[in-house]
Amino acid sequence: MKTEWLRKTIADFDPYFVAPIAEKHVINANENYLNVLTIPGVKEELIQALDTFRPQIYPKPMSDDIRKALADYIGAKPENFIVGNGGDEMITYLLGTFLDPGDQILIHSPTFDMYELGAETLGASAIKVKDLPGYRRDQKGLLEAVRRYQPKVTVICNPNNPTGDLLPRAFIEEVLKAADNIVFVDEAYMEFAQKESVIDLIDTYPNLIVLRTLSKAFALAGMRCGYLAADEALIEAIAKIKAPYNLNAFTQLFAPIVIRHREDIFKVRDAICVERDRLYAAMKEIPSVTVYPSCTNFLLVQVDKKQEEIFEALRRKDILVKIYRNSQDIPNGFRISVTTKDVDDVLISVFREALA
Ligand code: PMP
Repeated sequence: MKTEWLRKTIADFDPYFVAPIAEKHVINANENYLNVLTIPGVKEELIQALDTFRPQIYPKPMSDDIRKALADYIGAKPENFIVGNGGDEMITYLLGTFLDPGDQILIHSPTFDMYELGAETLGASAIKVKDLPGYRRDQKGLLEAVRRYQPKVTVICNPNNPTGDLLPRAFIEEVLKAADNIVFVDEAYMEFAQKESVIDLIDTYPNLIVLRTLSKAFALAGMRCGYLAADEALIEAIAKIKAPYNLNAFTQLFAPIVIRHREDIFKVRDAICVERDRLYAAMKEIPSVTVYPSCTNFLLVQVDKKQEEIFEALRRKDILVKIYRNSQDIPNGFRISVTTKDVDDVLISVFREALA
């Protein structure tokens, strides 16, 4: 293939790296260990729904049944949602709706890679406000940057991936008031934080767009279902660039059932939060380990030494974590998705032994 064929903005991109998986316990992608089919009633309702399932017909263009289920869950109107193949697809739609080549987005750093990647694909660029020491967001710096640059899209990941830091809702309101343009709040992990969401502010601020996903607290990463919540006019604008039948019929059948069973699913979410706090406390006791407080289902951990050795020792115990190799933002870092106590105990002992 000739490189000249490629769109110029992506010619230098590396392919998105997904680690090859040989391990039994995969805790590198912030998935949830729950299989929702084990929740009483879910499998039965799915089987019943399959009786009238017609895969030969195109799915509903705007995923009406999911929008209705979301309206009930969030307490908004179905028209306030647009649904697609995970948060990833929604980020592409959002940036594609608002960015022209040469535009700027504002992000804090470090954060989820897809915002910058998506902006650069479109020929836009990212202004970055670095976190304060300890990976807490620089609130003053972010507000100043919003006022100074008035970026086309201000992106706030809350709570943040990969640091786990949660910004107060009052701060996001300040950003909303300061910004002339779109403020995009990625709440992919908000169900784990259980506070500070701004999703109810979509009626108040016509420039607010909130991202949520069913991949994390709802344990549906494999089904690919994410959504944006915003004022109806914004949803209609974003729908202009959406592929007509973007979300497959099976996800549209299954997701509403899962959303309806949220009370049981959130019991597991609660258990993950308890386990997160236990894992945090245990890691904090290990010399040469720095672990950051997290409001999510993962922990950011740094070691003074032996990063590669620990990664390999974990693999020998059948555990795969995310490792940050040669990262300037996160030197000697790991991101560990919280899982069950038995697996976490093995993980803790590997860190303890390596750093003893
Ligand atoms: N936003 C954040 C902050 C994430 O960490 C992720 C997943 N890693 C996503 C969005 C997208 O998730 P999905 O496409 O599975 O909904």
